[in-house]
Amino acid sequence: MADKIYRVDMKTLTYKIEEVPSEWLGLGGRALTSTIVAKEVDPECHPLGPNNKMVFCPGLLSGTSAANSGRNSLGAKSPLTGGIKESNVGGTSAGIMAKLGVKALIIENIPDGDEFYHLHVSREKVEFHPCPELVGKDNYFVLDAMLEKYSKKVAVMSIARPGEMKMLTSNISVKDPQGKLRSHGRGGLGAVMGSKKIKCITVDAEKYKETTLADPEKFKEASKIFTKALKDNPISGEGLPAFGTNVLVNIINEAGGLPTRNFREGTYEFAENICGETMAENIKNRGGKTTHGCHAGCVIQCSQVYHDKDDKYLTSGFEYESIWAMGANLGIKDLDLIAKMDALMDDLGLDTIETSVCLGLAVDAGILKYGDGEEAYRLIKEELANGTPLGRIIGSGTGTLGKLYGLVRVPVVKNQAIPAYEPRAVKGQGVTYVTTPMGADHTAGYAVATNILNSGGYVDPLKKDGQVELARNLQIASAAVDSTGMCIFVAFPALDDPKCLPALIDMINARFGSNLTGDDVTNLGKYVLKLEREFNQKAGFTSADDRMPEFMKYEALPPHNVTWDFTNEEIDEFWNF
Ligand code: SF4
Repeated sequence: MADKIYRVDMKTLTYKIEEVPSEWLGLGGRALTSTIVAKEVDPECHPLGPNNKMVFCPGLLSGTSAANSGRNSLGAKSPLTGGIKESNVGGTSAGIMAKLGVKALIIENIPDGDEFYHLHVSREKVEFHPCPELVGKDNYFVLDAMLEKYSKKVAVMSIARPGEMKMLTSNISVKDPQGKLRSHGRGGLGAVMGSKKIKCITVDAEKYKETTLADPEKFKEASKIFTKALKDNPISGEGLPAFGTNVLVNIINEAGGLPTRNFREGTYEFAENICGETMAENIKNRGGKTTHGCHAGCVIQCSQVYHDKDDKYLTSGFEYESIWAMGANLGIKDLDLIAKMDALMDDLGLDTIETSVCLGLAVDAGILKYGDGEEAYRLIKEELANGTPLGRIIGSGTGTLGKLYGLVRVPVVKNQAIPAYEPRAVKGQGVTYVTTPMGADHTAGYAVATNILNSGGYVDPLKKDGQVELARNLQIASAAVDSTGMCIFVAFPALDDPKCLPALIDMINARFGSNLTGDDVTNLGKYVLKLEREFNQKAGFTSADDRMPEFMKYEALPPHNVTWDFTNEEIDEFWNF
């Protein structure tokens, strides 16, 4: 059976299963979500109103045996940035949707009334179940209820109380293979799901088909080469499996680019307490697991299962960006407490970056003190989760808190919090933050690879030379990779191993019977970026939105005492392609 478009109308509680338009056939993941959002969503619409849509699309290779191809993309207009958003996630949803034949799940409109719904998507139909018993509950409650209800293989995507309250720090959580949670993070997409009164979506794996391949032999051969490239690379094959993404704490700290205490310093004196090596040592001594995959078929396995001192499960998917956000950014040095906060934010479906950067700013507002992890935990658990007035302020994100308290040092681009790499000290990453249509987003073009990790060559992180070109090339490549369903970490072998990218393209060709070349893939990345920028321009964005917060221009960041020193003209050069 050919893939279909599943289109859901939440006002009438009806659905249609449509043929895939010919112009969408060769697209997947981010290329397809951004194409559909650009075509069908009015850029001027209110992101929480009836005219916004949620568009879920598995990647082009999702559902196949290709290593690391299980990412699902979600597109919408972001209520946090006001621009287009694509957020991709591991977990089980991409593989199940792809095998079920769902090319795209498009959710439109909002219901009349206050009832929340559970949507169940199967091969033949979409069911709408009112779910008052789930309202006011958080992710693990919903997940357990769904697994009990179906007692079979289903993908589960849900929101917790912050999503119901349409908070801009809310994510959409996705079940992983072990029954834990992954997130469609950044951009407040949980609020969009809350606005559509959808508490959870389950996707039925019962009648799914094996994904067909146009040339199984060619696919197998290319897949072998691709997997070998992932395993042979020192970062994706050794560093990430051994220490997780948290291997970056020491590396970025040594480079002077670890944002500390709301972007005041580039090094953290307690980095050793929260780094990947300490985490791996704790796991070795206590139990838990290094080398863990967020979706089936991941051969890098950068994820971790982290236990407390009594060898009791604390959290998993314990990522560098989250540990930085709660650790160096908030001056917290207790890794176990950070793990406890991480688990709480998973259950509440909160974006760890946006929420924690907002808490860092809350220190400047006099609400919290650096290093007071217990109070930070209480603010999330009691204020934010219960929607008190203070909780709603924090749940509205960094930019809003900054405005409400009259603060000047507000680390956002396009109103989205700047993540874990100091743009003044890792300048290529800074160019990505200001130019990507997504708002400050490290995954949009991971210049850390070439600025710090010497992957794909070396561009000095402290100098401006070559950074715009680097960020442009990486963003074009990332937009294409985000369309395949691959995770970001295939970038390391792709940058360094000449066999990796051709093998990836060969797999796509063997899957679809196409004849794509390297140039076609580059052109796909360019098409996606330009389309997204055009959406943002129609939504009212100008080049004035492609700017770093002003304080970074006049405040020199220790230890290198660097400022953000790009001219506007230099940044605007990014779009000359
Ligand atoms: S490498 Fe990490 S992020 Fe990528 S698929 Fe594996 S576990 Fe997920």
